Amino acid sequence: MKKNDYFIGECVDQSHDGKGIVKYEGFTYFVNGMITGEIGQIKCIKMLKNYGVGRLIELHKESPYRINPRCHIYQGCGGCHLMHMNQEGQQIFKTKRVKDCLERIGHIDVEVQPCFMQNTPWYYRNKVQMPIGYNKDHYLITGFYKQRTNDIIACQECLIQNHESNDIIQRVKELFEIYHVEPYDKVTHQGNIKHILTKKGYHSQEMMLCLITYEKTIHHIEDIVSILKKEFKNLKTIIQNVNHRHDNVILGDEEIVLYGPGYIYDTLLNNRYKISLKSFYQINPIQVEVLYQQAIQLASLNKDSIVLDAYCGIGTIALSLSRYVKKVYGVEVVQEAIEDAKNNAYINHIENVDFVCDDAGTYMMELVKNNVHLDVVFVDPPRKGCSQEFIDYLLQAKPQQVVYIACDVATQARDVKILTENGYQVDHVQPVDMFPQTYHVENIVSLSKK
Ligand code: SAH
Repeated sequence: MKKNDYFIGECVDQSHDGKGIVKYEGFTYFVNGMITGEIGQIKCIKMLKNYGVGRLIELHKESPYRINPRCHIYQGCGGCHLMHMNQEGQQIFKTKRVKDCLERIGHIDVEVQPCFMQNTPWYYRNKVQMPIGYNKDHYLITGFYKQRTNDIIACQECLIQNHESNDIIQRVKELFEIYHVEPYDKVTHQGNIKHILTKKGYHSQEMMLCLITYEKTIHHIEDIVSILKKEFKNLKTIIQNVNHRHDNVILGDEEIVLYGPGYIYDTLLNNRYKISLKSFYQINPIQVEVLYQQAIQLASLNKDSIVLDAYCGIGTIALSLSRYVKKVYGVEVVQEAIEDAKNNAYINHIENVDFVCDDAGTYMMELVKNNVHLDVVFVDPPRKGCSQEFIDYLLQAKPQQVVYIACDVATQARDVKILTENGYQVDHVQPVDMFPQTYHVENIVSLSKK
């Protein structure tokens, strides 16, 4: 096979990021947009040492899960990956991804429950940041960077972003046109506005708007703020974030509150949370409740339980379960997040939770050294998974149960393997779709001491 050759191939599987995998004459090709079971004519567009890249030219056999993508910029944007598959197809894909990882990486053969899908898998994101720039005709556009480029694809209505954010961002763009506020140019470092960011409290309906700028002054900003305030009643605060950096980091250090208190509130499983510009908050407000409820339900908690929430962020898991147990410890490495967590405990009048800023591994070691008894450990690490040190001391702490929540199933499978080799068994595996239309899968594995 050479570049630009054509062949007829069958898609036998999909890669972790949703691409079709086609085997032809013993060689593997990745074909964007092809679904398992489909057959089609493929054009080879790249040949590398270990695999090729193909483009689907024509489908000869179509998957029953195929649908027309609802978003007209789906092909170019790159933010969504599975919009050409219906809900059932996405569910099969996500469930299988978890099963495959546990088998291949973890050598664990267990039943994986069908992924919990979102009833209405649209307009769910509570946070968005859109770059702003000019199109070829010198009109202002907001949207998303085309994959691996500095070109913005215009997007007026992102279908996985909440409606209010779409509306506010479009209005801000119009006002910038009216008041001749210039977008920042990444190449020449001229102009000013880099990104428009919004956050929304799902239950509270409160909105935050942040303008991320290169310069400190925004022309006519008083007029713009006063118009936005009047037109969007739920807009509780407007912030400017100044970022002089020339790299791809979105937020700078300097924050100027232009209107309101500089934060919003939201409710999650009956607790209130203060959300500031930089605090981490799960981006799907509906599914996060499903995720936490399931995780809490899988743990056998009672009034005497002593629990650790490792990698606790702003304390959402610890605080959600605190009312069912005797005592919760929460550990998190980012100082600001722990301050938020402490404040969240305070505003919800929760007194049986101790939040500590530390590396999870080091903290686990301290708990073991001090003979602190733990009944259940919740683990929710970043993509790279748990550190070896954390796992080592977790095994020494010997909690009756471990509930492992992960945004990366591959590293989760690696860590769960170590636990199963050292006295734990997998009781339940439940994927939850936190990011509909994308290939991301969140997964809960609950384990208990054999
Ligand atoms: N459980 C929270 C946060 C999960 S994200 C929630 O559901 O919202 C993972 C968290 O782990 C992040 O807040 C990150 O700052 C934190 N983290 C990363 N490395 C860590 C480490 N070595 N020790 C403790 N926390 C860490």
